Amino acid sequence: MRILVVEDEKRLAAAIRRGLEAEGFAVDVALTGTDGDWFAQENKYDVIVLDIMLPGINGYKLCSTLRERDDWTPVLMLTAKDGELDEAEALDTGADDYLTKPFSYVVLVARIRALLRRGGATQRLIYEAGDLKLDPATHGCWRGEEAVALTAREFSVLEFLLRRKGEVVPKSEILANVWDFAFEGDPNIVEVYVRHLRKKIDQPFDKASIETIRGAGYRLAADGG
Ligand code: CA
Repeated sequence: MRILVVEDEKRLAAAIRRGLEAEGFAVDVALTGTDGDWFAQENKYDVIVLDIMLPGINGYKLCSTLRERDDWTPVLMLTAKDGELDEAEALDTGADDYLTKPFSYVVLVARIRALLRRGGATQRLIYEAGDLKLDPATHGCWRGEEAVALTAREFSVLEFLLRRKGEVVPKSEILANVWDFAFEGDPNIVEVYVRHLRKKIDQPFDKASIETIRGAGYRLAADGG
């Protein structure tokens, strides 16, 4: 699965790239509309993530140019909350969906997955560590045969740790990916969610899958604890 990200805010573009690559996507980033147009002509993408206000050709113009060329690659448009142009216009130019900034990483991935599903070519991905299993498509979680009910946020934290099982994941990355790129609240919120998760996926099963690495972050045991 190959994704083109056309976004001129370098930090945001880099964060999106990192996140999507961790998800297993191949990602190209274009920092101007003109480059985006070039990439889109040179390669075949499964989804294009397209900002509106861009140097060179803006996102609206680029999207309608694609459609005029008979390129029907699904387009997810990024709109700013204080934007001068509205979402209806994004859809008018031939975009398939839009997302208002600031958005959380989890929502971005969910929207991309939805577009891929609409395209009909999606594979079912289940994350596993030992007998701990997570199904992002249905939001199901299991310890062995037993289903565990998680809230949406708990699920997202666990999914993020599972995708990087065996690695030390810094708290700041969990915040940036599960909450928001621009999260400015109390970082201790992550500890609260890890505590909830331990009560649900570990303690009842006599396991200890989420290890606290002092001063560094958390590590989910690759064998499920
Ligand atoms: Ca922009």
